[in-house]
Amino acid sequence: GKARSWETTKVRTTCPYCGVGCQLNLHMKGEEIVKVTGVEGAQPNDGRLCVKGRFGYDFIYSDERLTTPLIKQADGTFREASWDEALDLVANKFKAIIAKYGPEAVAGVSCARSTNENSYQMQKLVRAVFQSPNIDHCARVCHAPTVSGLMKSFGTGGMTNSIQEFANTKLLFCIGTNMTEAHPVASTFVKNGARNGAKLIVCDPRRHRLADYADIFAQMKVGSDVAFLNAIMNVLINEDLYDKEFVRDHCENFEELKACVMKYPPERGEEISGVPKETIIEIARMLGTVKPAMLIYTLGITEHTCGTDNVISVANLQMLLGNIGKENTGVNPLRGQNNVQGACDMGALPNVLPGYQSFTDPAVNAKFAKAWGVDSIPAKNGLMIAQMLDGLLDKTIRGLFLFGENLVQAEPDIAHVEKCMAAAEFLVSTDIFMTETTRFAHVILPAASWCEDEGTYTNCERRISRVRKIKNAPGEAKPDWWIFKQIAKRFGHEWASNSAREIWDNELAVLCPSFAGVKYYRLDGDGIQWPCPSEDHPGTQILHKDGNFTRGKGLLVPLEWTPPAEVPDAEYPFVLSTGRRLYHYHTRTQTGRAKGLNDLLPEEYADISDIDAGRMGIADGEKIRVWSRRGSVEVTARVSERIQPGLVWMAFHYREGNANWLTNKAYDRVTMTPEYKACAVNISKL
Ligand code: SF4
Repeated sequence: GKARSWETTKVRTTCPYCGVGCQLNLHMKGEEIVKVTGVEGAQPNDGRLCVKGRFGYDFIYSDERLTTPLIKQADGTFREASWDEALDLVANKFKAIIAKYGPEAVAGVSCARSTNENSYQMQKLVRAVFQSPNIDHCARVCHAPTVSGLMKSFGTGGMTNSIQEFANTKLLFCIGTNMTEAHPVASTFVKNGARNGAKLIVCDPRRHRLADYADIFAQMKVGSDVAFLNAIMNVLINEDLYDKEFVRDHCENFEELKACVMKYPPERGEEISGVPKETIIEIARMLGTVKPAMLIYTLGITEHTCGTDNVISVANLQMLLGNIGKENTGVNPLRGQNNVQGACDMGALPNVLPGYQSFTDPAVNAKFAKAWGVDSIPAKNGLMIAQMLDGLLDKTIRGLFLFGENLVQAEPDIAHVEKCMAAAEFLVSTDIFMTETTRFAHVILPAASWCEDEGTYTNCERRISRVRKIKNAPGEAKPDWWIFKQIAKRFGHEWASNSAREIWDNELAVLCPSFAGVKYYRLDGDGIQWPCPSEDHPGTQILHKDGNFTRGKGLLVPLEWTPPAEVPDAEYPFVLSTGRRLYHYHTRTQTGRAKGLNDLLPEEYADISDIDAGRMGIADGEKIRVWSRRGSVEVTARVSERIQPGLVWMAFHYREGNANWLTNKAYDRVTMTPEYKACAVNISKL
């Protein structure tokens, strides 16, 4: 029932959904949330919330929460167990596998939904206790190309500027981002910018809602980004519209970039991208004359076999324009999950330690080894998620520890992923619900959820914000940091920290120069944006200030366009591209338990163009079959003039009709991020 305001208390916390990291006030009556409001005047959302932030919280109260450890029995069903029994079993199995096959036979996947402190503990468990390099998390399936691409171009793998600047810049260049649905509150600041007089350029295969506000909309073909961006840079250089001073003083490799983009005149850009050459020229001229400009992108850039190239390409463009290191400029990736930035920052990646420090640097390795009470940290790159899955099949991976990951629904080619999971010798899952993935686990450990423990999330603009405890976890469920600590203990490792706050203040702030000035006592208000090197430092709104790149000079990298791994042919004449919709979040483990949200979007759809639908006699709302070389699904067609002919667009929220039955396990050449944005399919009316 409705509580009167004098009976409620307000607790400030951070939204559990997307990487915008909106600040919420939870209006509490006892342990019950009665209302959620945005925190007025707060960064980054200034009181604004989307439907998920406002109504997506009931999952924490769900009857389906896991409340006790579960152990799989011989007949495949689970039985309840005590923590001691379950933890002993996990520790003994992992010990036995490591003793017999070596530490590299085990792997861990951390969680971008959970807190920084939990991800830090997870990678510490894998690296220090198991002595395995095999730690990864789901940035692998979204923004790993952002981290590697921006690291190469600039020296730091994070968003260069901040969300608040969207409303104040003069030009917004949005490419491969459906932010009105995927990052709704960020999109409101873009719309504010447009209302304040900023020009808006939107480039995407779909004419999504943001395009309605655009001065120029370029409906590109899926996977044509490098050619399209090269053609824009070709015009900028040929018409002398680039920032010569910035390039001369702050960038290297201009001549090599120039030689490459000269091979992409607007005509070739049009041929590959489908965007008329006049539009390419118009975009270049607008970019060349309207300053400052912010470039914003999302997974339309990263989820390709050329994902890292695409990221480097947008970095090339902004360097050429001198749009880096100043207010209201920059390369601004909107990260997907609430804490995917943080999970990367915590070193839940196979190639870096917390704070992006290198395990191959002997001094760094020794620093972490000493702090973690071991002789050394494995000094080699570990496996990425797709390699871990294949490792289950070929038995090079025998023990896999999954922390809150629903790989079965989220990875490409579900049939293949299920085969890998079924082959696992020993699989442990910590989670808050049973999922399609926990079915395959041998032990399931029940975890505390959002706002059942203290902690921090880091949003896409590198802002570290508090998540506050409002209730106890149900039943026997425990915070993940506690679970990892208990397993470490069974390996003879006594970890000192006894709360998220101690983990941050006594370990992360001490071990990572970029977080050295971040302490819990400083996080009460709007949090702090890293890098923050000392306790008197305010944090960093804008990276690479005044063209002083983290790597010294910015690196311009010549790139040739390459097509997607699978392109349409006579048998599979359509391109399938995938993403997510407003009302749900990923595999729905959370939003699927929020009643209001389920009612708004109860099933999967396939969006197809009105032209294809007319040709094939498919009416809006009719069932169709969509199939690829991997699988086949039946879904409801949504006929739309926003989709270009030849394109099918689907999401991965539901088990039935999930796009990942169809997607291709082809990967970005650098980071092994799957090409979710492009594969070949066919469709027919049922
Ligand atoms: Fe939460 Fe993202 Fe919506 Fe903000 S925009 S309320 S962070 S889901």
